[in-house]
Amino acid sequence: MLSGDQAVIELRQVHKQYAPDIVALEEVDLSISKGEFVFLTGPSGAGKSTFLRMLYKAEEPTKGTIIIDGVDLSSLSKSQIPQLRRKVGVIFQDFKLLYNKTVFENVALSLEVLGLKKSQLDNRVRQVVEGVGLSGKLHRKAVQLSGGEQQRVAIARAVVNRPPIILADEPTGNLDRKRTMEVVALMEELNARGATIIFATHDDALFKNTHRRVLKLKDGKIEEV
Ligand code: ADP
Repeated sequence: MLSGDQAVIELRQVHKQYAPDIVALEEVDLSISKGEFVFLTGPSGAGKSTFLRMLYKAEEPTKGTIIIDGVDLSSLSKSQIPQLRRKVGVIFQDFKLLYNKTVFENVALSLEVLGLKKSQLDNRVRQVVEGVGLSGKLHRKAVQLSGGEQQRVAIARAVVNRPPIILADEPTGNLDRKRTMEVVALMEELNARGATIIFATHDDALFKNTHRRVLKLKDGKIEEV
């Protein structure tokens, strides 16, 4: 897709090289529109994580321009990064929860920066936890949950701020098929409510029969499948 007014993610000639000679991305041009659900695929080591990390400024491109929701990431100072992170929810393969904290605490943490009243914060957390089907486990510690449940907590945490963009980096890599399909369904629901989603996976079965856009990373290039 060519860049249009509705692009929320735009890469122009983005190049990423790790010293001394690993080229993770080679002059990539790409535009993702508001409300798209895009699968990002490619073998392990193809650069999927690097690509996603650059979109929330955890990694800098060696060259090129990345624009998220109209903002050129190279223009952001360190102190402005939290503003970007509020627009971009991130979900990881290994969940990255605080395992000795409860479901409520894990999800509430990312809301605290917004300075909501306690009752507002409480309601918002309960609503999101209910959305991922974990109401009954609100006060369980994350360590007591199954892998599928832990990933649903991580999804709740990523979306509680209502970010317009959600990046998922192999979110189903540690889950069985049933839990995988639950995560895919949750992501589809978030997309139906307007979020733009990039879902990185090397599991072809997840997108084989979908009408979704599929981007394949290979040798530093991105091609449309
Ligand atoms: P994927 O997510 O598709 O498995 P990655 O983005 O993790 O791929 O990695 C892409 C390439 O960049 C790999 O060759 C990897 O070894 C290399 N790479 C990733 N992160 C670093 C780093 N911090 N330093 C050096 N090389 C890295």
